[in-house]
Amino acid sequence: MNTFNEAPRIIVQKLNKIIKTISTKSNLENYKDWKWQVKHTIKDIESFENLSGIKFDDKERIELQKTVDKFPISITPYYLSLIQVNNYKNDPIFRQAFPDSKELNISKADMLDPLAEDSDSPVKGITHRYPDRVLFHISNMCAMYCRHCTRKRKVGDIDYIPDKKDVLQGIEYIKNNPVIRDVLLSGGDPFMLSDDYIDWILSELKKIPHIEVIRIGTRTPVVLPFRITDKLVSILKKHQPIWINTHFNHPREITSDSIEAINKLADAGIPIGNQSVLLAGINDCTYIMKKLVRKLVQNRVRPYYLYQCDLTMGLSHFRTPVGKGIEIIEGLIGHTSGFSIPTYVIDAPGGGGKIPVMPNYLVSWSTNKVILRNFEGIITTYNEPENYEDNNCELDCNNCNLYLKMEAPEESAPVGIKKLFCNVDNTISLIPNDIERMERRKDE
Ligand SMILES: *Cc1c(COP(=O)(O)O)cnc(C)c1O
Repeated sequence: MNTFNEAPRIIVQKLNKIIKTISTKSNLENYKDWKWQVKHTIKDIESFENLSGIKFDDKERIELQKTVDKFPISITPYYLSLIQVNNYKNDPIFRQAFPDSKELNISKADMLDPLAEDSDSPVKGITHRYPDRVLFHISNMCAMYCRHCTRKRKVGDIDYIPDKKDVLQGIEYIKNNPVIRDVLLSGGDPFMLSDDYIDWILSELKKIPHIEVIRIGTRTPVVLPFRITDKLVSILKKHQPIWINTHFNHPREITSDSIEAINKLADAGIPIGNQSVLLAGINDCTYIMKKLVRKLVQNRVRPYYLYQCDLTMGLSHFRTPVGKGIEIIEGLIGHTSGFSIPTYVIDAPGGGGKIPVMPNYLVSWSTNKVILRNFEGIITTYNEPENYEDNNCELDCNNCNLYLKMEAPEESAPVGIKKLFCNVDNTISLIPNDIERMERRKDE
């Protein structure tokens, strides 16, 4: 239970006190049982006060209760034990787990479903946004309710529980759409489901011949590391290739317990990625992010995405300007190992999907030279090749010099900018369908 600034001995004492306060019959062994953790998640302010030793005054408690009535609490005893009580107001663990009355402030930009996940849903539980992959919500349960949850609207909402019938319908949709080659299991947290149920879903998906990979998004390694049991790992191992994405936001979340969970997955040959959310007052700092990504790769977790905080209702106090994210990426590229740098993305409101945003490295260019700058401020040139012959793809592999020889030409028509680049489509510009000038043309 090593955190960065506390001596292990003090932590064990604190931990024993937490365990005994929860249940006088429990011990450290119960504590490491994930079901015990789930059974004893902290769901109200009073239990939180008793366990953490933090006391709120009456006025604070009334405001907090109003917040909890709208957005419920759930904190695992494990995650609670990581809070540093003496400066809890600035504690990154506390701030991700415990409600803040600012969640009730609704800003003008806030939306209920900013990513339009429900609109891009052909059947309940599936969001089909990208050509070759789908998001599949198979659980609405989470061990901890992260205060910055993008699906805050669904947290604790009984209507959204996907039952076996819904899941079967989702599987049927995937079966009937051979363009889908990648299924991303999400929720809620898929690892809140039982081992047998997970085994069943994975087996069903593996039977579909066009599924090449399965991904699982879970925060259990961070908030409930004991969920990563040998039994679960053996089930996942059976269904390879499985990729896992988890969600560490701060280096303080990397503890001996979370490292043990990560190690089990990595030792089973499961690649692990990390998706962080940029959060004001938690990790909006180049040094914290650098420390986080270094600790992650040290433990075989590859930073994948850094998300700009979504426009979800109740998250305005967590949002930073986009400039903060660009500044952080600027502080990582060149300064630390390339494979530890996440792609900074904004998930487009309205359902446009993830859009990468980067500092600019391309300064200018001419017909034969590109002008670039590096992380140190050096401005440099790259000479373009003199005799480059483009292969002018016409989607005709049999008459092409490159060796791919696709079995079938690409099933789906080129989309977006790719359409403008491509030689088999005569589109010369992409035009929004509601501009007045185009409306006038139609009238002619
Ligand atoms: C994030 C997401 C994916 C996966 O995107 P990748 O960039 O491939 O990781 C797929 N579908 C939806 C709806 C998503 O939000």
